[in-house]
Amino acid sequence: MSPTRVLVLNSGSSSLKYQLLDMRDRARLATGLVERIGERTSRLRHTPRSGGTVRERTEPIADHAAALKTVAEELAADGLGLDSPELAAIGHRVVHGGKLFTEPTVVDDAVLAEIERLIPVAPLHNPANLTGIRTARALRPDLPQVAVFDTAFHTTMPESAARYAIDVRTADEHRIRRYGFHGTSHAYVSRATARLLGKAPEDVNVIVLHLGNGASASAVRGGRCVDTSMGLTPLEGLVMGTRSGDIDPAVIFHLARVGKMSIDEIDTLLNKRSGLVGLCGDNDMREIRRRVDEGDEAATLAFEIYIHRLKKYIGAYYAVLGTVDAIAFTAGVGENAAPVRAAAVAGLETLGLAVDDALNTVRGDAPRLISPADARVKVAVVPTDEELEIATQTYALVENSN
Ligand code: ADP
Repeated sequence: MSPTRVLVLNSGSSSLKYQLLDMRDRARLATGLVERIGERTSRLRHTPRSGGTVRERTEPIADHAAALKTVAEELAADGLGLDSPELAAIGHRVVHGGKLFTEPTVVDDAVLAEIERLIPVAPLHNPANLTGIRTARALRPDLPQVAVFDTAFHTTMPESAARYAIDVRTADEHRIRRYGFHGTSHAYVSRATARLLGKAPEDVNVIVLHLGNGASASAVRGGRCVDTSMGLTPLEGLVMGTRSGDIDPAVIFHLARVGKMSIDEIDTLLNKRSGLVGLCGDNDMREIRRRVDEGDEAATLAFEIYIHRLKKYIGAYYAVLGTVDAIAFTAGVGENAAPVRAAAVAGLETLGLAVDDALNTVRGDAPRLISPADARVKVAVVPTDEELEIATQTYALVENSN
């Protein structure tokens, strides 16, 4: 029998998240996280298949190679070692795939070189993703390593949405265009929303709102992305936990010329000290809502700015799509924060949008509708599952090549 397990790796600059899935029934055989790689107090948290006891290790883990070896030890302790013949492939999340990678791709030397060539447009993410792939490849050189790109789903955007209105030669020389991110999530959620409506993805238009610590919106027409809110980098678009989202670029010139800030300082300001945290000191929506309920002014204004931007994108993507079948909320905030969902569609009744208060406040893990039964446009809460999507895409690729 051909192997059916897929290991999914998501390598950050100092972290490594992993999940081992069996694609016969999509069961999660193990999940875990290594944090603070390169520090003395690195920590591994390993969760075996449902019901198993969580195991934690705190010990110095020097680099991603050491981290993956530690993960392999934990998996082996559960009888799921990486040397198992049941392992079909390793699927890697890669943040930036540029224009070239429109599909999940089996990694070879040329693919690695191209991911490396994209480092200037993804300096924080692609190096860590590359390290993860190289490490896994060294450990199991015989196994297909598949790169699944955050940008891939957005490569269907028309030039009218993907281009910035700047000098074309300069843009092309520096590969400046709107790539979009969170694509694996937008792909998964838009398809799951179609399923929830009992329709094929080709037959529905969906606005997906991925609201986590990072946040992005996308307009999906018949299963293909036609616009998304993140751009060259994940800084553009919605107000996020620590990122500003859309801003007049002249703010940057002003901060440099008048504020005498360096480019690196401005980069840190807009990526790490802006968004919700910059506005009110908190980036966790639970804490912000608690403060709003207590009448805290800064938190209230931060919430209003967050909602205002979200509403602008709903309106914009409604216009881009022409007709909308559903709006889907996903990720940490989208799946859990009922007040965000209610506020985002409040006042949009003439667009056919409404939220049923009772349905909106019911909690649950399954995809569900929260709009009134007779709503023209459905509003949905659809939990995202990027790891499952990466595993599914990885397995589909290697299964077909068997
Ligand atoms: P990321 O993957 O971008 O780090 P997540 O999708 O896990 O983020 O979302 C994390 C965010 O979700 C938190 O920062 C918090 O604001 C929000 N969140 C999580 N749980 C809740 C909740 N119960 N209510 C409101 N917001 C929540």
